Amino acid sequence: MADLPSACRAVTRPLPTIVTTPALPTVVHLDADAFFVSCELALRPELRGTKCAVGGRERGIISSASYEARACGVYTPMPTQRALRVCPDLIMLPHTSGLYSRVSRQMFDLCETLTPHVQRNSIDEGYLDLGPCGFATASEIEARVRKLQTQLWAELQVPVSFGLATNKLVSQIASKLRKPRGFVVVAPGAEQSFLAPLPLGKLPGIGAKTEATLAATHGLKVIGDVLRVGEGRLEAAFGSGWREMLATARGEDDRPVETEHDDAKSYSQQETFGRDIAEFAEIERIVKRMIDELLPKIRADGKHVRTMTVKVRYPDFTQEAHGRSLAAATDLEAPFYPLVDPLLRAAWRKKRPLRLVSVRFSSVEESAGQLEMFAERDEKRRRLAGVLDRLNNAGRDAVVQHGHQLAKRRGDS
Ligand SMILES: [Mg+2]
Repeated sequence: MADLPSACRAVTRPLPTIVTTPALPTVVHLDADAFFVSCELALRPELRGTKCAVGGRERGIISSASYEARACGVYTPMPTQRALRVCPDLIMLPHTSGLYSRVSRQMFDLCETLTPHVQRNSIDEGYLDLGPCGFATASEIEARVRKLQTQLWAELQVPVSFGLATNKLVSQIASKLRKPRGFVVVAPGAEQSFLAPLPLGKLPGIGAKTEATLAATHGLKVIGDVLRVGEGRLEAAFGSGWREMLATARGEDDRPVETEHDDAKSYSQQETFGRDIAEFAEIERIVKRMIDELLPKIRADGKHVRTMTVKVRYPDFTQEAHGRSLAAATDLEAPFYPLVDPLLRAAWRKKRPLRLVSVRFSSVEESAGQLEMFAERDEKRRRLAGVLDRLNNAGRDAVVQHGHQLAKRRGDS
């Protein structure tokens, strides 16, 4: 091209490349099946297949019922006395204090090994956003989520149903469609046709009464009916919210998966390398250094963490993450060092050079009451770590704490 005046050259700069990624079902809704009962059955597998329920025996209500009990007419929340009338051989299990929140935490910790973007809606229900995980195809996503479902069963003996779609609305409806242990994928673009034949009561916010009224008064029975009738009838049925109802019936939803208070819920650090790195020992040292840099922050915030996730990214931007949780939360570096090697090996399966590595600590807890049996030993280490933190703050890298830092220094020189 002939020389152009500089003003023209400025406008002939190449336009930024717009990368259009194909839509993928990256929004996952998970919902544990008969959660309290499932937690109890994990402890008492001999009761599997029986009509059983968790709830207060005398004047209480049923808070969770097995699918066998549901088939007998037991539902939640039903007064226990009534449940025992409709299902006389119902086995009543008392609430086990602390069990459900512990299993819930383990369940979401396992989810965090797949993606850090986890939104916990309730004790047994939540969303995962796999968008940032770099999956290239829907089948890759499906395989990985199926693996998570299998893992949840293998490790916790809790059945969990999954819905995969492009948004929260559709994935939530999908996860509840084939319980227990359902797995429903709604392909991008198929949201409307997926919803159309379903009863209106499947839409969040439409209870049994509203559903009956919509059918009797307005002739609206399935979600597809909302798309067929005119504006006038929609306005008569839903009032001023009819446009939102129309969008909902089309399967439109742009609410993001909200990882509540990202920074309060996790501590992470990542490093993009100047040159791709292929040596395991070097990456291992970087990961350990990140542990050493993150834990002082965690201590300073008065927090404990339980889950460590290591993510690796290749030069082609594909990436993989693996995480693992300690039995108890801690604010010390040492318990995490033994996880570095297995996590890195699990995440770095392709053995190709890496462009980036990151470390993330999640399952953040307040400090109080974490220590128990290792209290004394940990206390000494904590005092030492606190002293070292102060010294390090005063003289930056003046104090060498751990062996891998020595290695790093030798490597630097
Ligand atoms: Mg549930």
